[in-house]
Amino acid sequence: MKKYDFLVVGAGLFGAVFAYEAAKQGKRVLVLERRSHLGGNIYSEAVDGVQVHRYGAHIFHTDDRRLWDYVNAIVPFRPYVNSPLANYGGKLYNLPFNMHTFYQLWGTVTPQEARERLQKECAPYASLEPQNLEEQALKLVGPTIYETLIKGYTEKQWGCDAKDLPAFIIKRLPLRFTYNNNYFNDRYQGIPEEGYTALVEKLLAQADVRLDVDYLADKARWDASAEHVLFTGRIDEYFNFSLGHLDYRSLRFETERMDDTADYQGTAVINFTEREVPYTRRIEHKHFMPVDTPFTIVTREYPEVFAEGKEPYYPVNNARNNALYQAYATLAAAEKHVLWGGRLAQYAYLDMDDTVCEALKLANRLFAW
Ligand code: FAD
Ligand code: UDP
Repeated sequence: MKKYDFLVVGAGLFGAVFAYEAAKQGKRVLVLERRSHLGGNIYSEAVDGVQVHRYGAHIFHTDDRRLWDYVNAIVPFRPYVNSPLANYGGKLYNLPFNMHTFYQLWGTVTPQEARERLQKECAPYASLEPQNLEEQALKLVGPTIYETLIKGYTEKQWGCDAKDLPAFIIKRLPLRFTYNNNYFNDRYQGIPEEGYTALVEKLLAQADVRLDVDYLADKARWDASAEHVLFTGRIDEYFNFSLGHLDYRSLRFETERMDDTADYQGTAVINFTEREVPYTRRIEHKHFMPVDTPFTIVTREYPEVFAEGKEPYYPVNNARNNALYQAYATLAAAEKHVLWGGRLAQYAYLDMDDTVCEALKLANRLFAW
């Protein structure tokens, strides 16, 4: 008999939820993590009382009451409403696109005025069948919003011309005719009171965890230790890139502690939507979870080309990569002792609620007898 029932590769949210569910069923679980900390990209660390989101702003949001109850039963969450601002040329605009934004752009005051103005903006593009992100944006919001709030940000984020991006990316931005700056439409939204790392620590409390271990560097040895493997890393890397490399987009986070000011920008998230500013977002961590400190900590987020050795933050879900992923998924299905999950193994942009949901689905499939 092998020492463990499950070997979980990756101590991110997917691996942690699965490990928690498996341990609840009395399974023996070993978790391997390549990085030197738990949590994957949701990792947060307390710096003199301020919770710092090491890998960018993370706000848990969901419309599913069961998922909200599930995470709140692990650790308490504090309600938080994400309402980022956009800075274009030094002027501030509210997001998502709503009555405040329309007022700031055009001086329209009532929903009817705003609708009429938008209709005029979009009229030249009404019959367009959008083939790319630029066309989709022009059809949805017209040239003023596109040029001010979308084009520069998007081209920085993805490192290419908006005409070369798929249209679906922009469908995620809601358009509202109320004075409501809540970025998400979901009913439940919050941040763990003690940070995301506390959530992951609780989830992994019953598992054996080893940090700074790359499973793929010694795969045969680790495989021998468990009956089943759950792999949450990159699917192309698992197969040694035998079918080719999937594309990813990376990020660089530049974090600065400011001892000469207690409040630098007065809000948690500001998006920089013009091309000339090299970063896309600037976040001030203490505004996610208000805390009284004489200093503050700010992180700038720079999109970067992905290369081996960097973190693969975003899958690039274009036609070429999606087809290549499907080919890898066929290979994966033939690995009978291996389970797959998470944003890297599924090669999909998964929000945290999607990630928890997918991990619970996998656990239910295995453990619900
Ligand atoms: P990961 O966190 O990537 O975990 C996978 C882990 O596997 C990693 O720690 C990796 O080091 C490890 N690993 C890989 N290969 C190996 C190996 N060979 N051996 C050992 N370990 C290995 N979602 C929201 O809901 N709200 C937000 O506000 C939000 N903001 C985001 C902001 C940014 C900048 C990014 C990039 C994502 C954001 N997300 C947000 C998404 C959120 O981060 C994901 O849903 C979540 O982290 C996915 O968890 P995961 O376990 O699938 O992946
Ligand atoms: N986006 C934009 N302007 C903004 C914010 C987002 O044009 O101020 C676009 C951009 O193309 C981005 C997409 O909307 O890739 C999705 O944005 P979201 O904030 O949902 O993305 P994430 O936080 O996941 O990067």
